[in-house]
Amino acid sequence: IKVEEKLYQNRYMVDEGRPHISVKPHTQPTEALASLVKICPAGCYSRTETGQVEIAPDGCLECGTCRIVCAATGDIEWNYPRGGYGILFKFG
Ligand code: SF4
Repeated sequence: IKVEEKLYQNRYMVDEGRPHISVKPHTQPTEALASLVKICPAGCYSRTETGQVEIAPDGCLECGTCRIVCAATGDIEWNYPRGGYGILFKFG
Protein backbone atom coordinates (compact mmCIF):
# COMPACT_ATOMS: atom_id res chain seq x y z
CA ILE A 1 0.00 0.00 0.00
CA LYS A 2 1.33 3.43 -0.95
CA VAL A 3 1.79 6.23 1.58
CA GLU A 4 -0.80 8.29 -0.29
CA GLU A 5 -3.33 5.48 0.10
CA LYS A 6 -2.61 5.25 3.84
CA LEU A 7 -3.00 9.01 4.24
CA TYR A 8 -6.35 8.80 2.49
CA GLN A 9 -7.64 6.64 5.33
CA ASN A 10 -7.19 9.40 7.89
CA ARG A 11 -10.06 11.73 8.71
CA TYR A 12 -9.87 15.41 9.56
CA MET A 13 -12.08 17.76 11.48
CA VAL A 14 -11.25 21.12 9.94
CA ASP A 15 -11.63 24.11 12.25
CA GLU A 16 -12.96 26.53 9.61
CA GLY A 17 -11.36 29.95 9.78
CA ARG A 18 -8.96 28.97 12.58
CA PRO A 19 -5.91 27.33 10.98
CA HIS A 20 -3.59 25.86 13.59
CA ILE A 21 -0.49 26.68 11.55
CA SER A 22 0.27 29.88 9.69
CA VAL A 23 3.26 31.21 7.77
CA LYS A 24 4.44 34.63 8.87
CA PRO A 25 4.48 37.32 6.16
CA HIS A 26 7.68 37.36 4.14
CA THR A 27 9.02 38.54 0.80
CA GLN A 28 11.52 35.71 0.29
CA PRO A 29 11.44 32.56 2.44
CA THR A 30 14.37 31.51 4.59
CA GLU A 31 16.09 28.25 3.66
CA ALA A 32 14.25 26.51 6.50
CA LEU A 33 10.85 27.77 5.39
CA ALA A 34 11.48 26.91 1.74
CA SER A 35 12.47 23.37 2.71
CA LEU A 36 9.03 22.67 4.14
CA VAL A 37 7.62 22.33 0.63
CA LYS A 38 9.62 19.09 0.30
CA ILE A 39 9.74 18.03 3.95
CA CYS A 40 6.08 18.08 5.01
CA PRO A 41 4.83 14.47 4.68
CA ALA A 42 1.31 15.66 3.95
CA GLY A 43 2.32 18.18 1.28
CA CYS A 44 0.70 21.08 3.11
CA TYR A 45 3.27 23.66 1.99
CA SER A 46 3.60 25.10 -1.50
CA ARG A 47 5.20 28.05 -3.27
CA THR A 48 3.20 30.91 -4.72
CA GLU A 49 3.93 32.30 -8.17
CA THR A 50 5.92 35.10 -6.54
CA GLY A 51 8.06 32.72 -4.47
CA GLN A 52 6.51 32.93 -1.03
CA VAL A 53 5.69 29.80 0.95
CA GLU A 54 2.06 29.22 1.86
CA ILE A 55 0.29 26.50 3.84
CA ALA A 56 -3.02 24.71 3.52
CA PRO A 57 -3.09 22.94 6.92
CA ASP A 58 -6.31 20.97 6.43
CA GLY A 59 -4.43 17.69 5.80
CA CYS A 60 -1.82 18.25 8.51
CA LEU A 61 -0.71 15.10 10.35
CA GLU A 62 0.42 17.10 13.41
CA CYS A 63 3.82 15.46 13.13
CA GLY A 64 5.59 18.65 14.24
CA THR A 65 8.34 18.46 11.63
CA CYS A 66 7.76 21.99 10.33
CA ARG A 67 7.66 23.29 13.89
CA ILE A 68 11.10 21.83 14.59
CA VAL A 69 12.63 22.87 11.27
CA CYS A 70 11.53 26.47 11.77
CA ALA A 71 12.07 26.63 15.53
CA ALA A 72 15.17 28.80 15.19
CA THR A 73 13.87 31.04 12.41
CA GLY A 74 10.34 31.61 13.71
CA ASP A 75 8.93 31.50 10.19
CA ILE A 76 5.70 29.83 11.22
CA GLU A 77 3.15 29.97 14.01
CA TRP A 78 2.31 26.44 15.16
CA ASN A 79 -0.34 25.33 17.64
CA TYR A 80 -2.24 22.12 18.12
CA PRO A 81 -5.81 22.30 16.83
CA ARG A 82 -8.54 22.96 19.36
CA GLY A 83 -9.98 19.94 21.11
CA GLY A 84 -12.14 17.85 18.78
CA TYR A 85 -10.46 19.23 15.65
CA GLY A 86 -7.52 18.07 13.58
CA ILE A 87 -6.56 14.64 12.41
CA LEU A 88 -8.23 11.39 13.48
CA PHE A 89 -5.84 8.47 13.04
CA LYS A 90 -8.17 5.71 14.18
CA PHE A 91 -9.32 4.99 10.63
CA GLY A 92 -5.80 4.57 9.28
FE1 SF4 B 1 3.25 19.03 7.57
FE2 SF4 B 1 3.84 17.82 9.88
FE3 SF4 B 1 3.94 20.49 9.68
FE4 SF4 B 1 1.59 19.22 9.65
S1 SF4 B 1 3.04 19.30 11.38
S2 SF4 B 1 2.18 20.89 8.27
S3 SF4 B 1 2.10 17.35 8.52
S4 SF4 B 1 5.24 19.01 8.59
